[in-house]
Amino acid sequence: FAPWNDPNAKPYIAFENVTKRFGDFTAVNNLSLSVYEREFFALLGASGCGKSTLLRMLAGFEEPTAGRILLDGQDLRGIPPYRRPVNMMFQSYALFPHMTVEQNIAFGLKQDGMAKPAIEQRVKEMLDLVKLTQFSKRKPHQLSGGQRQRVALARSVAKRPKVLLLDEPLGALDKKLREETQFELMDLQQELGLTFVVVTHDQEEAMTMADRIAILDKGEVMQVATPAEIYEAPASRFVAGFVGNVNMFEGTVAAREANTARITGASGAEIVVENAGDAAAGNSVAFAIRPEKIKVSSRRPEGAANAMEGEVYDLAYLGDMTVYHVKLGDGQVVKASALNSARQTDDPLTWNDRAWISFRPDAGVVLTR
Ligand code: ATP
Repeated sequence: FAPWNDPNAKPYIAFENVTKRFGDFTAVNNLSLSVYEREFFALLGASGCGKSTLLRMLAGFEEPTAGRILLDGQDLRGIPPYRRPVNMMFQSYALFPHMTVEQNIAFGLKQDGMAKPAIEQRVKEMLDLVKLTQFSKRKPHQLSGGQRQRVALARSVAKRPKVLLLDEPLGALDKKLREETQFELMDLQQELGLTFVVVTHDQEEAMTMADRIAILDKGEVMQVATPAEIYEAPASRFVAGFVGNVNMFEGTVAAREANTARITGASGAEIVVENAGDAAAGNSVAFAIRPEKIKVSSRRPEGAANAMEGEVYDLAYLGDMTVYHVKLGDGQVVKASALNSARQTDDPLTWNDRAWISFRPDAGVVLTR
């Protein structure tokens, strides 16, 4: 076994040129994607991008129209869901309301004909795993949402599948509980040594939990990378805009020399960029930069490679940080954020103040797509 970030790792789950059509609608379009053993992998995209369809094909509820899906080298075509080493946990937990917690967890094991003492042993382990031992005799309606979610989780891993598929697993929980449960899920996945594939439309959830994320749009993969790469080195305007806040300066590459590019036409100013990627002179590009990489000050910063003048248009104090919206001469509103612990108290900007934004040449990325 080699983990996902080991160069020798072999794909554990492989989608190879998978297409799925419903009538003449293409939900998944010639998509290829690999997931590694024991990886926590997230499929992230807007509603209708095809993420649930991918999961359902892996589980065996749907078959691809074209292409194939391999698990540990085996082509899954024609293998019914119950014979795949894959289990799926749904958003609506679908617990049996008339059964106790332990009966819910035991249900699938009984159906598989497991011997009674072995079932008891396994249920005990599972209750311990999700910390619900003291609730074993309760029925679902006597539990909180978070506890119900844990029962569903225990039930879905009780059969020891190799892969657990989670479709919006935390969608029914409120924000605080969802954040706590995200960490619990990560711990559990580590403990069990399972491969998790989670579908979510919540970018923070994907960023928090996943080793790698696939960003999907209209049935196609836009980028597959770690959360940090997705955030700091998005491959396209779509990905940059989809994950996190971003400022996008549209312009043209006026000159390119080694790794440095000069971009003109963006908000009337010239932007100097290092790590210019594959942008060539004459290309129409976007310079994408995150709000926390932009500095706001009341005076023109000395020696800054990139500085633009504007006015404070909006300002929000968020406790840990302050967010500024600075309107530039051409009307573009730039978002900048500063940690309050790092904020310069001698420079208290407020609404309608003249302000300068500035950033380093290596603070953003140049996007040609
Ligand atoms: P959501 O987050 O809303 O669940 P999703 O990304 O999971 O969205 P899918 O459920 O995979 O999206 O659906 C992808 C597209 O395929 C949608 O446009 C959907 O309407 C369509 N689709 C899915 N299942 C079927 C079906 N059985 N028949 C026809 N169209 C379908």
